[in-house]
Amino acid sequence: MLIYSDFERFRVYQIKQLLDDHGIPCYVKNEFASGAVGELAPQDVQPEIWLQDAQWQVKAKRVIDDYIAQNQASQNAQDWRCNNCQEENEGSFVICWNCQTSRPES
Ligand SMILES: [Zn+2]
Repeated sequence: MLIYSDFERFRVYQIKQLLDDHGIPCYVKNEFASGAVGELAPQDVQPEIWLQDAQWQVKAKRVIDDYIAQNQASQNAQDWRCNNCQEENEGSFVICWNCQTSRPES
């Protein structure tokens, strides 16, 4: 079942990573919908996160709600640089937008 969708691919992957960390079986659909950099993404084919089983819905919703709340709370957090690919990330990101490496503990 569909649990989350966002036209921002990195956000979908951040939540996928969180669900993985919590041991919730899920997968991404429309993974390549956004196309290459510089191309316009059609709004009707957003990347989606699907749960393999509806029994995980309550737990998954809680993880996602926590993520969104945390995201809003840390909007003024400092930007950080990825240890793996050296890309700059916004302070609210918990994993690198570019390579999905977890944010280093500071
Ligand atoms: Zn990175």
